[in-house]
Amino acid sequence: MKLRTPWPPDLSGVANEAGTQIAGDNRLPTKNAALRGFTIAAAIAIFIADSITSLDIAAATLYVAVVLMASRFLRPRDIAIVGLGCIALALLSWYITPPAVSVTLAVANEFISIGAIALVTVLARHAKLSEAEVFNSERRLRDVQKALAHANRLTTMGELMASLSHELKQPISASATNAQAGVRWLAASPPNLESARQSFERIIQDAARASAILERTRELSRKSASRKNRVQLNDAIAEVLVLLQHEFLKENVAVEIRLDQTLPPVEADRVQLQQVVLNLAMNAVEAMSEFPEGPRKLIIQSATVQSGDVLITVQDSGPGFAAENADRLFETFYTTKTSGIGMGLAICRSIVEDHGGRLWADTNQVARGSVFRFTLPRSPVRTANSGENPVGGAYL
Ligand code: ADP
Repeated sequence: MKLRTPWPPDLSGVANEAGTQIAGDNRLPTKNAALRGFTIAAAIAIFIADSITSLDIAAATLYVAVVLMASRFLRPRDIAIVGLGCIALALLSWYITPPAVSVTLAVANEFISIGAIALVTVLARHAKLSEAEVFNSERRLRDVQKALAHANRLTTMGELMASLSHELKQPISASATNAQAGVRWLAASPPNLESARQSFERIIQDAARASAILERTRELSRKSASRKNRVQLNDAIAEVLVLLQHEFLKENVAVEIRLDQTLPPVEADRVQLQQVVLNLAMNAVEAMSEFPEGPRKLIIQSATVQSGDVLITVQDSGPGFAAENADRLFETFYTTKTSGIGMGLAICRSIVEDHGGRLWADTNQVARGSVFRFTLPRSPVRTANSGENPVGGAYL
């Protein structure tokens, strides 16, 4: 098996299971240096022991420990070199060691030792190659997942384009109207400076609104590496709802927002979590818009559960789904929509699980519709001397 990447693999920019950066862990080189020293010392000690003891004692077999230790920090090719080196040392000892009582036993011992070193070298090298292959496959899988998540975000943003351009048109037209009014107030005789000032202030507010919408759209569309910070989920949810405002109006959906103001921050990638909320809310709107009966109501709720974790609920009054399908919804390519892809919920679940949380669906027990819930662990407590800056929140 040929390795396509150098060994040791370049860990920079690669996230571990918890999604945090593992590059730059400077404890690893120190640990490796100690193990290297210990391995060399063990090889010297075994060589001395093997050289001063009789050939009847197969002390050279202990070199397998040297090969195993070396395999912890060496690349596959170097493990083979260490194995050959150990065999060379065993043969050298054979020549300088006092003669054995039984020549047959001495020869048999030497063969056993060299055979054991060779076998362990082959196995250790093979294990290292498999480890590298697994690492590369996991990295490729993560790359594909990231690309899919980005594509899904772009698709959702594409679906929202009509709403977003409408959302942008409003502050721009309002700015033009206010600018005309401001000019009129200034041209009056005498000029009405106070009214003109108010017109210009309204222009500033509208410009800020348009710029915030553009900034959020850009953030969500951007392809960026996973960045985990302290996130105030209530703010992240509110930003997504601003983007969806026109969609709610268009589909006649009444939105009820119940945000727990004491919600603790979570350690998360803000854009990824916004993608989850965006997908769940868009699915809810789509489900309700295909179902003409009754009022359309969407409830978005944040709460803190007993364990201190955060719970987000997205509940709609759409047709719901058959209870036995609750898990199938999260399977890749499962869709009941004519133009659906069936990736949205699968991506949402993998994002939430990557953050140490859980995402699941229930049918609404009280009224009609679906309830999607996800939990996230609260951000770990930081001490004043942890050297990290809280993002969007005070120290806990
Ligand atoms: P897609 O939207 O492309 O179909 P998803 O993974 O987002 O892919 O959704 C998978 C399926 O889950 C949908 O086709 C739909 O059948 C079901 N689903 C998702 N959200 C809801 C909801 N709020 N109410 C009812 N069914 C839903």
